[in-house]
Amino acid sequence: MKCSFCHERSVYEVKYNGSALCGKHLTQYVERRVKQEVRQQLNVGSRKTRVSVAISGGKDSSVTLHLLHKILSERRNIELSAFTVDEGIEGYRSAGLSAARSLSNKLGIPHETISYKESFGYTMDEIVSADGGRTIPCAHCGPMRRQLMNRVSDYQKGDYVALGINLDDYAQSIMMNVAKGDVKRMARMAPHTKSQDGLVPRVLPLRKIPEKEVMLYAVVNGIEFEGGWCPYYAQANRNKFRSIVSDLENENPGTKFAIVNFLDTIRNSLDTSFPPSELGKCKKCGSPTASELCVVCSDLEELQKIMENNSG
Ligand code: SF4
Ligand code: ZN
Repeated sequence: MKCSFCHERSVYEVKYNGSALCGKHLTQYVERRVKQEVRQQLNVGSRKTRVSVAISGGKDSSVTLHLLHKILSERRNIELSAFTVDEGIEGYRSAGLSAARSLSNKLGIPHETISYKESFGYTMDEIVSADGGRTIPCAHCGPMRRQLMNRVSDYQKGDYVALGINLDDYAQSIMMNVAKGDVKRMARMAPHTKSQDGLVPRVLPLRKIPEKEVMLYAVVNGIEFEGGWCPYYAQANRNKFRSIVSDLENENPGTKFAIVNFLDTIRNSLDTSFPPSELGKCKKCGSPTASELCVVCSDLEELQKIMENNSG
């Protein structure tokens, strides 16, 4: 099939709008929408703005770093830095970490690594084995990663932390909140336009780009990334929603965009009805939290009790 905009052979059929795109026009199509998201999500103006990019070495975060560099590097008042969270998952993270370092070096962006082991005392593998199947691994991992992302971007003095969340991930997260009836969590979803004390606002430059387009963009533009999956992913709740959302999309192309547009449309009412709660500091680690202990410290306390029982 030919590209709808030139005589080249197409590499991608855009089912939700009926066009076909060659590599060059796919690149332009992706970049145009990411630029628009960046303009809407980052309040930059002329003040100095630092953006910390969380990069796992996978396709989504690698494309995010590449695109933010391409879109923002000519603006003198913007500084980009990158970091990788090392969960301590044998055979998974090390390949991603070297891809993340290598891409950051190539782009001339400072990169650092922060690990669960150094920060919390345990690797994810140790946590999974201590937990012994009581909870799914991602229930421990998600809050820990969010907390470290906030810590790094806070000490890198980031005004924003950018994440490689694509349209598929974002639509799934919205549906997960709907299914749980968790309106408050929905109201706190990124992109964050306002900063809250101690919490660095998260931005999602790829949230309107379907996963397939991110993958093709990476391949067409020769962006190196690591394609491995976390060994614990099979247990993630998200899997169910991944298949529900993709079934809906197959039956009715454009559904993922419709789900995101739904949230965007009710966003202001959500902000008014569910303003962010006042945050104090965790009495153990100092992280921002509405309770005495943050989610991570109370989870770790529980795990320590289990470990003591196991050894006793
Ligand atoms: Fe952590 Fe789950 Fe992601 Fe694996 S799939 S890195 S356990 S959140
Ligand atoms: Zn804490």
